[in-house]
Amino acid sequence: MFDDLRDLYQEVIFDHNRNPRNFRVMDNADRKVEGFNPLCGDRLTLFLKMKGNLIEEASFQGSGCAISTASVSLMTEIIQGKTEAEAEELFKKFHEMTTGKDEHFNLEAIGKLAVLAGVREYPARVKCATLAWHTLDAALKNEQQSISTE
Ligand code: ZN
Repeated sequence: MFDDLRDLYQEVIFDHNRNPRNFRVMDNADRKVEGFNPLCGDRLTLFLKMKGNLIEEASFQGSGCAISTASVSLMTEIIQGKTEAEAEELFKKFHEMTTGKDEHFNLEAIGKLAVLAGVREYPARVKCATLAWHTLDAALKNEQQSISTE
């Protein structure tokens, strides 16, 4: 990865960590799932408002490290207006990007989420980045309990 691209990615992560998007409790949420990453101490609650199989609104609350906060902030932005199937597809791509050994992963296919591609060089941080997505996965499967990355 080029250094200037890496800098740009870090800017985006810092920005989302400082000013998380959709950071609020949703009173009329259809789905509410808590996620916890004991490895780092990241905690979040994900709220979804559904319209049929469409994710109409997404928001979150919680506290965690910069990577986990930026990841869930970016995710809530990106999944709004997506169908459940499209969101699951993004989860799969995101998982491939952060854990895969594929050096030629097409970053363009994942849009803004590419800013988190760097975590694959830091295995300990992968769970910070994927916590939001595992929580989303549970929410889409309508599993109301808490989930843990362990
Ligand atoms: Zn973390």
